[in-house]
Amino acid sequence: MGRIIILDEKTANQIAAGEVIERPASVVKELVENAIDAGATAITVEIKNGGISYIRVTDNGCGMESDDVEIAFERHATSKIRKIEDLDNLSTMGFRGEALASIAAVSHLEVRTKTAEEQTGTLVKVEGGKVLSVSQTGCPTGTTFIVRNLFFNTPARYKFLKKDSTEAGYVSAMMVRLALAHPEIAFKFINNNQVQHHTPGNHDLLSVIYSLFGNETARSLLPLDYEETGIRVSGYVGKPEIARGTRNNQFFFINGRTIKNKVLTAALEDACKTLIMQNKFPFCVVNLKISPELYDVNVHPQKLEVRFSNENAVYSALYHGVKSAFTAASLIRETTETAYAPSGKAGDQTGHEQVEMASWNRPASKLPPPQRILLPWELKKQADDGHAGPNETEKPALPIMDVPIQQSEEPETGTERAVSVTSSLAHGKAFSEPGTSQDELVTVKNEPEPDASHEMLSEEARGADVLLEAEIVGQVFDTYIILQHGDRMYLIDQHAAHERIRYETLKKRIAEGQACSQMVLEPYIVRLSPAEYDFLFSRMADFERAGFEIEAFGPQTVIIRSVPDIMGGGFSLDDFHEILDRWMETMGEKYGISDEAIYMMACKSAIKANRRMEKEEIRALLEQLCAMENPYTCVHGRPVAISISRRELEKRFKRIV
Ligand code: ADP
Ligand code: MG
Repeated sequence: MGRIIILDEKTANQIAAGEVIERPASVVKELVENAIDAGATAITVEIKNGGISYIRVTDNGCGMESDDVEIAFERHATSKIRKIEDLDNLSTMGFRGEALASIAAVSHLEVRTKTAEEQTGTLVKVEGGKVLSVSQTGCPTGTTFIVRNLFFNTPARYKFLKKDSTEAGYVSAMMVRLALAHPEIAFKFINNNQVQHHTPGNHDLLSVIYSLFGNETARSLLPLDYEETGIRVSGYVGKPEIARGTRNNQFFFINGRTIKNKVLTAALEDACKTLIMQNKFPFCVVNLKISPELYDVNVHPQKLEVRFSNENAVYSALYHGVKSAFTAASLIRETTETAYAPSGKAGDQTGHEQVEMASWNRPASKLPPPQRILLPWELKKQADDGHAGPNETEKPALPIMDVPIQQSEEPETGTERAVSVTSSLAHGKAFSEPGTSQDELVTVKNEPEPDASHEMLSEEARGADVLLEAEIVGQVFDTYIILQHGDRMYLIDQHAAHERIRYETLKKRIAEGQACSQMVLEPYIVRLSPAEYDFLFSRMADFERAGFEIEAFGPQTVIIRSVPDIMGGGFSLDDFHEILDRWMETMGEKYGISDEAIYMMACKSAIKANRRMEKEEIRALLEQLCAMENPYTCVHGRPVAISISRRELEKRFKRIV
């Protein structure tokens, strides 16, 4: 007996508050949503101590009439619905008439408000749900709520709060979502007296993103503008370079309301799959306009989950929207013919940025519709009719080239000679017949030399493994690696070494059917000659085997979506043309991938000279180099390494004669 009681109003409000108001961020959300409903165009949110001790929300909306203010704090007080049927239209907005009562029940709250028609404003103070005072006050049109000491009377709730900085982080994240959802409203967020974000309220989403995330992000975006089966997709998706290790920078809105949904995440990520490294997640602000009958929002105010009646349609619209954003970007690339070079030099980068800036607001839909974009499950693997890789080159038994330095010669003569002899070979037979160049190199080595050098050649010629034992001294001119071992100094041409590694790696992978491709950031659209076009299409399987993903894109035009992964970093259209030319030249009517084409890919992908390398990088390069079949020459037959003996140096310095 006496077990069942009717809760008093205060207790009921506190319980309700627990559902609606979980933490400072939920107070901010409710107050800001009210301000938005009141037609505000500028909203300022200020917090202190993560919002636990102080939250202020000021808006320039319609305000409340003095008669209405007090009742606004009662449960189920709302100006927004009058009867139960209205709830249907508002179901996405959470519980009605709960927020103010709930906040007031668990805090010290005051509100100043004035409508445009009234001369003076109203000040109401509430504590733990009890109205303490109502008075007149001078204030501008609009409303300011100040919420102090949240959960002062509900210790269990208070205990659940995290530390101030964490709570401030939640508020900040909430503000970001609200600002992104409302580019028409100027939001200012102040945390512990510091302005954290301030959006312009100029109706432009890009400006909002710029003010929230900065220039770096804003200039790495592609606009979304797509419609399919009545589902409109707009907003922005970030290029791979701004992808992050978490999904925190993915924002989805349906009809202006922030939501989370796995189908949307999947569509986005599938559309950028090969563009973005594993465990990285693209940035996006996606606005979906969907007829409200086609989805269901869980009406709990803390839940943002939606269910779609046709998930496939939503997936497809977003997937294609994102895909075409990337395709549209490629058109811009083609007209400017700027090479994609993320690790390029400062000069390239500047040009690149300008192109991107200009393309910001270019809606995808104004561009020719992308072709042959299929959903992942629709993609059919092209049957691989390829065959075994090109012939293996024989491993030459060639020692590191020794540099003979004569006392009577100019300092560089010896080196120059070695290089010039071999590189002239490279332009002759060496290119198509690698074996020849090696024979010739041996011949060069065996040329009559000044006695001392010649002796050294035969006595101290060593295999490449000496490079692994040698001590790394450093790098000179950002081009040559210097090593020391025993009585010898070794100089390595880093570009030649790299070329060799790339060539052998790619060749092996192709032979084993393991060549990997990497999707280019922005696909290239290339117009080809009829001969090139025919050549390419008749050997599509070979191109795929090498790591290219190429599709038809209109008459004599192809779209390059992926390139061999070893080329991914610095691929340009010029490179593609050179590879194609060399491939056609060397294969003629034959099928397969010529060694020369692989040389070309290797050469185009290798790090250029003039790059500073750390010792660990040098070590790794040497290890890779020594694992090669022929670590001694680059693909053009130029030497990779040369050595100079201590004795030679001593002679140069006239220590010995
Ligand atoms: P709801 O928003 O669901 O109506 P709330 O408890 O959040 O319920 O607010 C109660 C009422 O108080 C609102 O319906 C509105 O009339 C009034 N109100 C609250 N905040 C503001 C504001 N910033 N400007 C004008 N009116 C407001
Ligand atoms: Mg409300």
